[in-house]
Amino acid sequence: MSENGRRRVLSGVVLAFVFLALHSNPALGWSARGHETVGLIAADLLAARNPRALAAAERLLGGATLEQVAPCADFIRRGSGADCAGIQLDAEPQSRPWHFIDIPISDSPESLEPYCPGGNCVVDQIKDDVRALEDSSASFSQRQLALIYLVHFVGDEHQPLHCADEIVDGRSDYGGNAKPVVFEGSRSQRLNLHALWDHIIEPKDKLDPSTLAAQLERDIKKRDISSWTSGDFVADAARESFQIAKDDIYPEYAADGGRIDASYHDRMQALAELRLEKAGVRLSALIETALGGQGPESSQRLAQASGLPAGGAAIGRRVDAMVRQAAWSRQ
Ligand SMILES: [Zn+2]
Repeated sequence: MSENGRRRVLSGVVLAFVFLALHSNPALGWSARGHETVGLIAADLLAARNPRALAAAERLLGGATLEQVAPCADFIRRGSGADCAGIQLDAEPQSRPWHFIDIPISDSPESLEPYCPGGNCVVDQIKDDVRALEDSSASFSQRQLALIYLVHFVGDEHQPLHCADEIVDGRSDYGGNAKPVVFEGSRSQRLNLHALWDHIIEPKDKLDPSTLAAQLERDIKKRDISSWTSGDFVADAARESFQIAKDDIYPEYAADGGRIDASYHDRMQALAELRLEKAGVRLSALIETALGGQGPESSQRLAQASGLPAGGAAIGRRVDAMVRQAAWSRQ
């Protein structure tokens, strides 16, 4: 393609980008398409590795798919309920802080606890949702809501600006929501850094999340993903997001004075896609942990998820039992 042709394509991409971002709520986390992509990746991985866990998840969702319910949590965080993927959900305004964890980029956190008062942050909520899903004494609707939250929050946690903020003059910028972004050639001031990132994956496959999911799944197959689901990977995901915001996103914003051109998208797309890949892989592991039963195919995954007991004693007990059983079988 000629340089002019390439420029035209890129400016089209930026315009699509601006349009989508201006017509969205800036504080929702990945756009619906981003969340749907995470749900699709997780479902495909489960279908291949543990179809029993996927079937259990879809039964809980009344036949809806992980993709369909992935955006639902954003529809109930304010004052009204919603019909989402055929499921009637009540308003859950208390869930508003559960979509993020604000860690100031001036900090170098050893523990995430100080940033998660009362367990009201995305990290603790993901662990709580896994516990609720595992809890056979919980009601159907409690477990259904826990799964709807889990699918969404794992996606949110991988959006870097859901795990970082900057304190300016003693006030938070709310993960870049208070940082205006100016596109070269655009006079609009309505776009902000957080909204830009919510939609950063969209120009590539804006009409079809399944195309993007298939592409990312091919990429996942080429990667060594064992470390993605080892140890306390739920906390690790938030730390990774924080570090990307601190090392890449905020310094670049400061250097450019908030001015964005087409090359920004080129540079950041790979980073954003890797976040979606990790979210999909980790979501599948968590669902398998909670709903996968105790078949041999899930035992390794359960053991790998042993970082969870910090947030889930029930899971810890089950992982311990699986590990003991596996050790016994080998004798
Ligand atoms: Zn959200």
